[in-house]
Amino acid sequence: MIQRPSNPTPESEGNVHCVSIDVEDYFHIESAYQTVGPSRWHEWPSRVERNVDLLLKLFNDRGQRGTFFILGHVAREHPHLAPRIADAGHEIASHGFMHDRLHRLNPDSFKQDLGDSLKLLSDQTGRKILGYRAPTFSVTPQTSWAIDVMLELGLEYDASIFPVRHPLYGVPDAPVQPFFVRGKPDGPTILEVPPLTWRISESKNLAVAGGGYFRLLPLGLMKRGLNQAQREGRPSILYFHPWEFDPEQPRMPLSLTGRLRTYTGLKTAARKLDSIMQRPARWTPIAEALDELRKLAASQAVYTLEHV
Ligand SMILES: [Zn+2]
Repeated sequence: MIQRPSNPTPESEGNVHCVSIDVEDYFHIESAYQTVGPSRWHEWPSRVERNVDLLLKLFNDRGQRGTFFILGHVAREHPHLAPRIADAGHEIASHGFMHDRLHRLNPDSFKQDLGDSLKLLSDQTGRKILGYRAPTFSVTPQTSWAIDVMLELGLEYDASIFPVRHPLYGVPDAPVQPFFVRGKPDGPTILEVPPLTWRISESKNLAVAGGGYFRLLPLGLMKRGLNQAQREGRPSILYFHPWEFDPEQPRMPLSLTGRLRTYTGLKTAARKLDSIMQRPARWTPIAEALDELRKLAASQAVYTLEHV
């Protein structure tokens, strides 16, 4: 029997690596939901196109391609954006329509929100949309009904379960590598592609995949997570938002914690991402690695989200 090498060298190019972008404007963030909710979004000048352009240039300069989870609201207000991203060779996936955490929705309203975004994105790009990421990684045991809805709408994978402990999201005991997940016992399963974590002990995973952690913490932590995943043959899925690369964005009325999490590290983010993308790795859109991801997921037990 041929054994996979358990310790590929750190420079090995075998693993799946993906830079994913959640395409939303700065005013869509959850920390602003109470003060700048959907009814006031129009009062804030959009900056998403210029920030996406900056990211497209960064990808292009490094000859890399990624997965863009686009918010329906952004696609509707900027109808040329998704086609431009698709034309640059990237995967188009969905970030839902109105950026509601799934905890504020139910199976019917989620089906509407996600279905509308899928239709809009596929109409605009002429492509079938295969993947979804929920706002603030809000697929958790409380919203386990979301899995059946995704399958009903024809999705091939979800990238919304974060195997960490966090006040707003996270499923700390979920697997750290791709797995098949079902909402309820005996329900149908979908491929789950979790963001990169750095396992610091048997029971503790540190979120090092992007977002606030990427901007607030030294880049060395993400690199250690990438190295660990590489050694263990795990894929590395990273995530970023266009507004994270925009130091000039208008400042919104946020709580002290919200301001810290949102406005720290904006100036250095582009340089840091560029340094990550220069690593000798095979950066690929998730959709192009589905066979490999499914194979990895099939090698372990199906995870049931609803804790009974
Ligand atoms: Zn988001």
